[in-house]
Order: sequence, then structure tokens, then C-alpha cells
Amino acid sequence: MKKSVVSSFDVDHRTLNEGLYLRSTYQIDDKLSVLSWDLRFCRPMAKEPLSAGVVHTIEHLMAYYMRLDEKIGRSIVSFCPMGCQTGFYLSTMNDVTAADIKAALIRIHKEVFPIKSTEDIVGLNEIQCGNPALYAIDETNVAMNRYIEVLKSL
Ligand SMILES: [Zn+2]
Repeated sequence: MKKSVVSSFDVDHRTLNEGLYLRSTYQIDDKLSVLSWDLRFCRPMAKEPLSAGVVHTIEHLMAYYMRLDEKIGRSIVSFCPMGCQTGFYLSTMNDVTAADIKAALIRIHKEVFPIKSTEDIVGLNEIQCGNPALYAIDETNVAMNRYIEVLKSL
């Protein structure tokens, strides 16, 4: 297969497992690089991908709570869903490690989950979001529990 300019296209998704991966590093200048992390919630092809409601709910929660993290909050560039609905991309500055991300996610999971209603989903309203009717409560709790178990096993 042709080597791609998109680093994630060079990963064989048939053998990719759930987990946390450093996907690429963009060197901005001598001091600054931006790291792109693959937070893979579902093993591609093996089972059902995340529903659109789960993806949207996790996007809102993580975009908000990861930025509040004492250690890595100020180093977060973006948190974006993958279109294939099997995970998320997290972009950070160079001073963030996989262990930092893991610790932040475990802490957020402990403090924020289980979510109980739309009141718990930050920014889910017509002013701050493009589709506030799209969310999932129970399914999101299940997906997060599963991913945290994956992270703890790494
Ligand atoms: Zn939204």
C-alpha cells in the first residue's frame, strides 16, 4: 500500500486494538511540537462502533473536562471524534505524555461519571452546540467504563 501523508492511514486497522496511541508529532519550531493521540475506544471492525450520540456526548465532556486537568489542561489543543466512530483524536503540546493522558481520563471518569441526565453534558444547548438533541446517557457511561478498563490494563 502507498505510504500516506495522513499518519493514521499508515496504521493497519485490521490489527489495531483499543488503547491509547501516539499517532504523529508535528514539529512547529525548535521548542514546540503538537502531538496527535489516538484514543481508540473500539477495535475497528470487531464490534459495533460508538453510536453518534455517544461520540457527541464524550466529545462535549472531554473537550471541557480535559482542559480543566491541572497537569495537562493548558497543553490541550483539541479533542475531536473520529468519523469512523471508533475513537477520538486528542492533540496536545509536546509536554504531555501517555501516562498524563491516562491519569487525566481516569480522574475525569471518577469525578464526572456516571452521567445521569443532559444537565451533566456541558455545552449541550442551542447556543453552544450544533445538535443538542444528539446525545446518549447510559450508552456513554458503558463506553467510558469500558475504555477506562482498557486504559487501566495498559
Ligand atoms: Zn455539540
